Amino acid sequence: MSDFPIIRPLLVGILQIEKSNFVYGRHQGTKIEAPCIMFVIEINGKKIVVDTGPCNPEKAAQYHGPLIQDESMYQPNVLKNNDIDPDEIEIVILSHLHWDHCSNCKIFKNATFIVQKTELQTAIAPNELQKAQYEIGFKGVIPPWIDVLPQISTVSGDVHDFEKGIHLITLPGHTPGLMGVAVETERGLYTIASDCVPLMENWYGDDKVSHIPNGLHIDLDQYEQSFKKLRDMGGIILAGHDFETLKYKVYPHE
Ligand SMILES: [Zn+2]
Repeated sequence: MSDFPIIRPLLVGILQIEKSNFVYGRHQGTKIEAPCIMFVIEINGKKIVVDTGPCNPEKAAQYHGPLIQDESMYQPNVLKNNDIDPDEIEIVILSHLHWDHCSNCKIFKNATFIVQKTELQTAIAPNELQKAQYEIGFKGVIPPWIDVLPQISTVSGDVHDFEKGIHLITLPGHTPGLMGVAVETERGLYTIASDCVPLMENWYGDDKVSHIPNGLHIDLDQYEQSFKKLRDMGGIILAGHDFETLKYKVYPHE
């Protein structure tokens, strides 16, 4: 059995949103469809989940915006169709606690949920601008991660070799405690960048800037440092909401 991990990106919903929400200062008025992605890292027969995806379309429409999620994208069905038993998952890494990354987490009954301490603290009392993203302040709505609060274990800062060859990397800017997951595969480093790099366009930048922040952010100086950190790490970026990420069923790819 290979010692090297592989990464599988799984489609768990499609947001219908303003492109400027993702690409700061650009594409105002342009509507796009953007996938929500759950990642499964496999290493030595063990499976680690990164992000659990969005809530159902009805709740999304009420509090956030239009979301497509047919039966085939519903998280329990996605796992089943990929021969993954949620009960076998011991670790779920949550990149951050926005609704479209941590809903339906209670399907992982036996998992410990890894979150940056700063992110958990932020999710309780977020900046007003991000209250909706954290589902805080909607009457009668309990934020999704509360379902698994007793299963949450926090980390502070980067964690090198969280599992052999799998590193937790802080990438603040979009949120204070956003965390990417860098995976050393047989063919080099792949980093699950979550909403630090929602679209590859954010990563490639344009003629004005080398990288473009997410339209939703809390600190542009931190954001710039996070981009620099990703650049220094090298390797391949897997964007958080880009169909490009779903181009291959498994990373590394042939
Ligand atoms: Zn987010």
